[in-house]
Amino acid sequence: MINISSIKTHMYCPMKLYIQNHVDTNENDDYQLAIEIKKLKIDIFDLIQKNMRKIKKDMGLVQIEQILSQNIDSYIKSTADAIISMDLGLNNEQINQIIDEAYFNIKITSLKIKQAMTILDKNAFAIIDLFFPNSMYSYLLKDSQLELIGMCDKIEIIDGKYYPISIKSSNPPLKGVWDQDAIELVAYAILLEEEFETEVFVGFVDYEKIGDRRPVVMDVNLRKGLFEVMREVKEITDNKKLPNVRKNPRKCDNCEYKDICIK
Ligand code: SF4
Repeated sequence: MINISSIKTHMYCPMKLYIQNHVDTNENDDYQLAIEIKKLKIDIFDLIQKNMRKIKKDMGLVQIEQILSQNIDSYIKSTADAIISMDLGLNNEQINQIIDEAYFNIKITSLKIKQAMTILDKNAFAIIDLFFPNSMYSYLLKDSQLELIGMCDKIEIIDGKYYPISIKSSNPPLKGVWDQDAIELVAYAILLEEEFETEVFVGFVDYEKIGDRRPVVMDVNLRKGLFEVMREVKEITDNKKLPNVRKNPRKCDNCEYKDICIK
């Protein structure tokens, strides 16, 4: 069974996937930490959504921001403490990044809510679906025939159609989405089609750092690209094929395996 997290790692660097599978023994901690951080971010979205219900159309921007921010800080801190106690390696830089992203998101959402309430002349409670469509979070998708499994960050359901959403804290490209983000999303789209017997034509990547949502069209070439990547992943994970990679300073300098890799 191929986990979509392996596809993501392979797209970042095939050697990283090889080291994770055949050399490094701490990979599970990193994976678990990534899951805990994702869960925390989902809870933050949920809190913002709950807070939004209290906003009235005559409120100013500062008051809207204050209401959306209620309980966010204390929740992040208490959850971060709980994750730290799990000894998964969460550090202060990561915690500060989560806080910064949350408040950036609150600022953008406040502006959008204010604008929408003014144009539609409604309180926030009446337009909540505009900002938070019916969604499922951290949804486990699996296809035994394809031998593919993965946890989709978010699935939005609008007018009976399903949209896979991938939430990223990485820097976005200048336009469009990174190849690895598109491949990850098409994997979720294919699993979604199987699970709900539906067709998925488009998904979205949410780049949290800049509060931007970018579409990915699930065309034939992207679908074929996924199957090619799955073949390469299997070669590395099942057949221990050592990949031939060219070092990329931009990636290698930030890679936790650079010491192992040099050896
Ligand atoms: S150090 Fe570079 S080549 Fe080695 S695993 Fe990391 S990203 Fe890949």
